[in-house]
Amino acid sequence: MSERSFDISRRRFVANAGLAATAVCLVPYRLSGDEQSLVVAARKSGETTKVTLQSLRNNVSVLLGSGGNIAVLPGDDGKLIIDSGYLSSREKIAEALDGISRDPVKHLVNTHWHFDHTDGNEWMHSAGATIIAHENTKKYLSTTTRVDDWDFTFPPWPAAAIPTEITGAEKTLHLNGATVALKYYGPAHTDGDISIYFTEADVLHTGDTWWNGHFPFIDYSTGGNINGMIKAAEANLARVTDKTIVVPGHGPVGGKTEMIEYRDLLASIRDRVAALKREGKSLNEIVAAKPTAAYDAKWGTGFVNGELFTKLVYKGIG
Ligand SMILES: [Zn+2]
Repeated sequence: MSERSFDISRRRFVANAGLAATAVCLVPYRLSGDEQSLVVAARKSGETTKVTLQSLRNNVSVLLGSGGNIAVLPGDDGKLIIDSGYLSSREKIAEALDGISRDPVKHLVNTHWHFDHTDGNEWMHSAGATIIAHENTKKYLSTTTRVDDWDFTFPPWPAAAIPTEITGAEKTLHLNGATVALKYYGPAHTDGDISIYFTEADVLHTGDTWWNGHFPFIDYSTGGNINGMIKAAEANLARVTDKTIVVPGHGPVGGKTEMIEYRDLLASIRDRVAALKREGKSLNEIVAAKPTAAYDAKWGTGFVNGELFTKLVYKGIG
């Protein structure tokens, strides 16, 4: 099987990005020739994507459609926002935020550094937001960062987009009458992922440690790996009950049932790929064996298809 077969055409990418209310931060495995166009196309998709507001509980809402899912808690202390979407969706995001309340934007938390979660940082900061993130997120936004599996090199973000308040293992915010707990996962999707838990509302935002209904991207270039993803999926499950509302980084809002399915598929595919590798099979042979087959119809229709996901899992198996 050639490298070529892992390519994702720009056309398909744009079509999917435009369609999905659950826009996905997607990802070519190998680009041939048309380098850099996929991150550019993803950013461009923000111009036409629809931004949808969904109310969750205790005033916590989520905006779906522009990059990673954006959670919002309005109130007298100003809005707290989780992730900032694509810059190209700025007007739509601002309009949706105004529709929630007239409170100014005061705090922005980044779940991790990826562009589809941070491209709106600069304008939200200009609107009044202090930006909070893990130190590794700050590190990647502050410098030139290459993501090999996107074949893309990001220049440093503008100074106004860089987080100024750093969270270590844990940090608790008390805003708008709510207790908001930030918690570091350790290396998972990147090595800067944090969760955000709205305690009274019982709403958890997992960032990109959970993709609901899509195989996840795993960013090895900035510290992610499959075993860390499984660990994060376990940690997420340990924190929720049947009542917890969970906002994934990508895909629709869900809960424990969907998270169990996701954790199980990650572990099952990891075990299958590891077993094939132990048998001495090459990467191409493992891809040809289709270790994701049982899940492809449901989970592999987005930008990370079964082949790409197999390669990402393989990369993390020693
Ligand atoms: Zn991401």
